[in-house]
Amino acid sequence: MKIGIIGAGVTGLALGRLLSSKFNVEILESSNKIGGIASTKTINDVTYHTIGGHCLNSKHQEVLDFIFDIIPKNNFNQIIRDAKILFKNHYIRYPIEFAIKEIYNIDKKIAFNITKDFLSTSNENSTNLEEWFINNFGDTLAQEYLIPYNTKIWNNDLRNMNYDWVIDKLPTPSPYDFFESLMNYKSDDMPHATFFYPVTNNQNDFLSALANDLNIVLNCKVTKIMKNSKKWIVNDSYKYDILINTSPLNNLFDLIYDAPADIKSYAQLLKYNKVTTMLWESNSQDFSWLYIPSQEIKFHRVINIGKFFLPNKNYMITEAIGEIDYNTMEAIGKKLDFLIKPIGHNISEHAYVVFDNNTNNVKKILMEYLDSVGMITVGRFGEWEYYNMDICIKKALEVFNRLVTQYES
Ligand SMILES: Cc1cc2nc3c(=O)[nH]c(=O)nc-3n(C[C@H](O)[C@H](O)[C@H](O)COP(=O)(O)OP(=O)(O)OC[C@H]3O[C@@H](n4cnc5c(N)ncnc54)[C@H](O)[C@@H]3O)c2cc1C
Repeated sequence: MKIGIIGAGVTGLALGRLLSSKFNVEILESSNKIGGIASTKTINDVTYHTIGGHCLNSKHQEVLDFIFDIIPKNNFNQIIRDAKILFKNHYIRYPIEFAIKEIYNIDKKIAFNITKDFLSTSNENSTNLEEWFINNFGDTLAQEYLIPYNTKIWNNDLRNMNYDWVIDKLPTPSPYDFFESLMNYKSDDMPHATFFYPVTNNQNDFLSALANDLNIVLNCKVTKIMKNSKKWIVNDSYKYDILINTSPLNNLFDLIYDAPADIKSYAQLLKYNKVTTMLWESNSQDFSWLYIPSQEIKFHRVINIGKFFLPNKNYMITEAIGEIDYNTMEAIGKKLDFLIKPIGHNISEHAYVVFDNNTNNVKKILMEYLDSVGMITVGRFGEWEYYNMDICIKKALEVFNRLVTQYES
């Protein structure tokens, strides 16, 4: 039984690790390196997350067990998140729902209106993402922060987006938690409230440990997938009994030799965003990352990557949606006085799946087609979902358990 996996990102590597214990596995990776969008590069001895800063944690114990089984926990530093929001030129703590006292010191009327609206939210059914923010957080918080920030990060009118992705991604405090935060210091219970970063100060070492001893063919872009009665045949030469895709779904159907034309055109309806990042020498700052809702600064987030390292260093990564050239990124950076000098610049391919009104229907049609031909697809772009690394690993575990049950029985 030979299994082929397309892509050596976190999903492909986790699958490879798991499946290699039972099957003959080969991973085909188009790039000259492993790790996909989680991989880093080193500039002036500093780890640069070219697609944007990454922190690792999970609320799923089986995922943590898998990780710490490969890389013992003492190979990671555990770092406390200190995220901030640049709100009307003031730094306030994240999540914003627990920062009402700080907003009160900036603008009493806004603080009052946020409280009044939050405590009278209806939680009624929403038809789009903008309505969901208003219905769950109240009009003032939605207008002052959630809508401007999310419009930036999605580069989209939120009234044309669905909200399926949001549930596990945002802290959604109850009215009682909100009230308590007005009285006492309150923290959210999101998994990344603390996070793990390799003691080597480089995420690539986590990825390399995942890849260790796996059979990975680098520089091998999959361009043609065929199936005869028994085997999958990839690029006319690699033969597999089972084929698992982790590459982006919107491109996959152009690779499948006899995929129907209507399936190929449905796949073109899937939308995604690219991200541009810049690595900077910086001043020292306390925040681990900073959210910027203002439309006047094109960066939506600044990662204080130097705070992920021990000992700390003074380096930051700025992120902006879309393709932005070096000079424009450098000019935007002049608006933030803690940024000193750019030392790296990158424009991604796939970074964020965009959930518009077509996404769910299109995905359903594409998944049904893949089911009908017997191809497994998994991962952030393989399933077209807003998955973090831990959920990619969780999904890899699910595929592994399914295949073992199927083929060992
Ligand atoms: C800005 C940003 C910040 C993030 N922050 C975090 C965070 O803090 N914490 C966290 O846990 N997660 C974070 N994530 C999410 C995390 O990066 C992803 O969940 C994870 O890396 C996805 O892995 P994957 O293997 O599914 O996909 P990918 O990494 O995209 O891997 C797919 C692989 O397939 C290869 N491939 C594509 N086409 C072909 C082809 N035709 N032939 C062969 N190979 C091919 C690609 O080269 C790639 O290596 C973040 C993502 C972004 C964009």
